Amino acid sequence: MKGQSVNLCPMCSGKKKDGTATFTVDLKDTVVVVRDVPASVCSLCGNEWINDDVAEDLEAIIDDAKKRQHVVEVTRFRKTA
Ligand SMILES: [Zn+2]
Repeated sequence: MKGQSVNLCPMCSGKKKDGTATFTVDLKDTVVVVRDVPASVCSLCGNEWINDDVAEDLEAIIDDAKKRQHVVEVTRFRKTA
């Protein structure tokens, strides 16, 4: 966390709020859907940002989901480190 609680959206200058987002990653054999990902969400245009820690966890979750080789893998965000 880098203490960026009051942030403006670079797209529309709207206010970013802490919230959660759903990320969908389309790999070749699997579509991975990760819900409840902590993110900053713009209250005006709906753009989402995640911090580096969250991105790392997200990557590990996606790697893990890949190994299951389901056509669609729906999972929830969790800390992996
Ligand atoms: Zn915006």
